[in-house]
Amino acid sequence: MLLQDIYHQGSWMFNSLTTDIPIHIQLKIQSLFIDTESSDIIIWGHSNSGTYSAKSGYHWISQISNLSSASSSTYSWTWLWKSKLPENIKHFCWLVLHNCLPTNAFRFMRHMTTDSSCKRCHSSDENLLHLFRDCPDSTSIWVALLFSSPSFYSTTEFTNWFTIHATSSNGVLFMVTCWFIWKSRNDFVFNNNRWIKWHCLSQIHCSVDTFLQVFESSHLQKPLRHVSWISPLGNTIKVNVDGSSLNNPGRAGFGGIMRNSMGNWLLGFSGFIGIATSLQAELHAIYNGLCLAMDRGFNNVIIESDSTIAIGLVEHDISPLHPYAPLIKKIRQFQNMDWTIAFHHTLREGNECADWLAKNGATSDVSLKIWHSCPPQLSNVLIADALGVARLRA
Ligand SMILES: [Zn+2]
Repeated sequence: MLLQDIYHQGSWMFNSLTTDIPIHIQLKIQSLFIDTESSDIIIWGHSNSGTYSAKSGYHWISQISNLSSASSSTYSWTWLWKSKLPENIKHFCWLVLHNCLPTNAFRFMRHMTTDSSCKRCHSSDENLLHLFRDCPDSTSIWVALLFSSPSFYSTTEFTNWFTIHATSSNGVLFMVTCWFIWKSRNDFVFNNNRWIKWHCLSQIHCSVDTFLQVFESSHLQKPLRHVSWISPLGNTIKVNVDGSSLNNPGRAGFGGIMRNSMGNWLLGFSGFIGIATSLQAELHAIYNGLCLAMDRGFNNVIIESDSTIAIGLVEHDISPLHPYAPLIKKIRQFQNMDWTIAFHHTLREGNECADWLAKNGATSDVSLKIWHSCPPQLSNVLIADALGVARLRA
C-alpha cells in the first residue's frame, strides 16, 4: 500500500483501510504535513534534526529501558543535575543512587574482599545505609547537624532515604554531608586518619555556604520587563500567530489574528491539527497565517510568533531530514512569492490574542475556523494592544 492510497488532496481516508486505526493514532497522522512533491527519504525519528547523534540514540535507548522497568519509567534525574552543587558531588550522588559506591559490602558481593564489615566501627556490614547513616561516626555528624526527625533514622530502604532527603529543602546540606562522610571514611580506611567530628562539620558548613553563594548568584532575579504589541507601519499587516499543544505532544491547534496599523481586527483564525508537538503547532500557525494573508491579497505582511525555534527554522536553511521539513519547506516557498513578508519574534505577553485563538483551536474539532469579528473574550486585549498597553514580564 502507498500513501497515495489513503491520502488525497490534503485529506486522509482512513475509512478505505480494512484495519481500524485507533483514533489517537489517526489524530497523530492527521497532524503530519505531507509534501507530495518530494520523494521519500529515511530519517532518524528520535531527534529534532532527523539525523542520528549519540545523544539522541542514548536518549531513545534510555526511554526503551525505562519502559521495561516500571519503577524507573517516571524517574527523572533533573533534580540532581539542577541542584546547586559542583559536578563532582552531583556525580558522586548519581553513583550512590546507582549503587555503584565500592563499600565493603559491595566489594564482598563481587569477591573483591573477604570482609564486608565496616572498618570504622566493626559492628556491621558496610552497606550504604550503614556507611552514610548508621555507623556511629556518621550518626554523630547528622545529630550535630540537627537531623532529628525519627523517620530520618527509621527508614530501612536506602534509595528512598537518600532521594527524599536529597530532594528536600535541605538537599544541598544533605548531599554535601554524604560527600564528606564518604571522604572521611576513605581517609580512615586508606590512611588510617580519623577525622575529628568538628573538623568534618566545619568543612560541611563552609562548603554549603560557598555552594549556595556561588550557585545562587548565577540565578539572580531577572529585571522586570514591559512587553507590548507594536502596531505595523503604513499599509503593512501584522499577523500574530501561535500554536498550542495541550500535553506536548497532545491535542494541538493553531491560531492567529491579522491587524492593520491602527490595531484593528481584520481577521482571526484557529484550527485543530490532531495530536502534535508545540513546535508542529507553531509551524502550522505560521503556515496558515501566510496562506490566509496571501488569500486576502495583502502585499506587506509581518508574521509575528512567540516561538524562537519556529522563527529560526523558517528563516534558516534546515536539513531535509528534519521531521517537519515538508511544512517548513512550504512556509519558505512563500518568501519567493510576489509580496514582502518578514518574520518577527515577540514575547508571549505580546501575543495574547493569538494565544487565545490557538488554545481555542486545540480544543475544537474544526480544521480551520475564520473569525470575521473579534470574539467578546478578546475585546479588552484588542483595545489594550491597539493603545500599546504594556504587560509586565517577570
Ligand atoms: Zn561503621
